[in-house]
Amino acid sequence: MAMLEELEAVYRKLKKDAAFKEEFRSFLNEYAGRPTNLYYASHLSKHFGNLRVYLKREDSLHTGAHKINNTLGQILVAKRMGKARVIAETGAGQHGVATATAAALFGLKCDVYMGVEDIHRQQLNVLRMKLMGARVIPVESGSKTLKDAMNEAIRDWVTNVEDTFYLIGTVAGPHPYPVMVRDFQSVIGQEARRQFLKKENALPDYLLACVGGGSNAMGLFHPFLNDKSVKMIGVEAAGLGLHTGKHAAPLSARMFGVLHGTKSGLLQTPDGQVKIAHSIAAGLDYPGVGPEHAYFQKIERAEYVGVTDREAIEGLKLLSRLEGIIPAMETSHAIAYLEKLSRRVKGKKSVIVCLSGRGDKDMETFREFI
Ligand SMILES: *Cc1c(COP(=O)(O)O)cnc(C)c1O
Repeated sequence: MAMLEELEAVYRKLKKDAAFKEEFRSFLNEYAGRPTNLYYASHLSKHFGNLRVYLKREDSLHTGAHKINNTLGQILVAKRMGKARVIAETGAGQHGVATATAAALFGLKCDVYMGVEDIHRQQLNVLRMKLMGARVIPVESGSKTLKDAMNEAIRDWVTNVEDTFYLIGTVAGPHPYPVMVRDFQSVIGQEARRQFLKKENALPDYLLACVGGGSNAMGLFHPFLNDKSVKMIGVEAAGLGLHTGKHAAPLSARMFGVLHGTKSGLLQTPDGQVKIAHSIAAGLDYPGVGPEHAYFQKIERAEYVGVTDREAIEGLKLLSRLEGIIPAMETSHAIAYLEKLSRRVKGKKSVIVCLSGRGDKDMETFREFI
């Protein structure tokens, strides 16, 4: 608790610190490549007929996804706290790569915990991290995947808190991480809101984003919180189907529990054992979800739905063929939901989809579907 309380106190101050905010903004713009475009997808819109679809192009950022927004923010906090070393957990390797990138940029030592299962499945990302000077520490415990890597990272942090900063990759984990990561990712929604107002002179009817831990979704949603007319839909990975139990959709399945310092949506057995998540998208393959999403669901500010592996592949093909944009496997879940949204709405509606990342990293997964 002591280290979380220290971090909370530091972050509370930095949040109001003009120099800190300016430094963050400058790295987002100059290094990561912000602002990203809000692109009107005319072919996709024509395909559906009743939707005006805008894509928030986080896929165009350095390293290919929204994760860099958060790692740049947290590395600046680590620097202000005088830490010499950062640690992270990673599943698919995307957060590990974004952390290794930021650590290389700031000259900090970087250790990334990764389950051995994931190390085998994500060789390319392991190589990326090593090339940028990070050490990848294999985790042999439990299911040898993301949740186990997170357990080990938390143990490391407790032991080495003097010089070490723990850089969490999504809006999950103990407070203040869900708030801090949300704040760093909110640049997505702030930009999108401004850009949409400028293009359409109105607010969008819907916001759509895929939900793993929930950081790209929360980043898009949060700046629209007080715009009551704007509906928010988070798309979870329904894997092989909610009825099969092989999915990564705790909110859609209405399953709740406590993991990694958070009470939120969680896949678990009736005796409280954490269940292994399943999704074709490695970045959605986490049994939990950020607590603020569970809250949004509870107060009915946002709605959470599931899209299966199979449906996501259709979303991937649709965007690739109609717009010449190959989305990440995670993002393809949000694209796939447009089909269902189109059937649900009455009249013509506008929607902003968070295009959280590009598909280059997933070409091996795509191979059998091409
Ligand atoms: C990691 C990742 C996600 C899932 O993480 P969130 O915290 O839910 O945003 C989604 N899309 C891409 C491209 C990712 O790399």
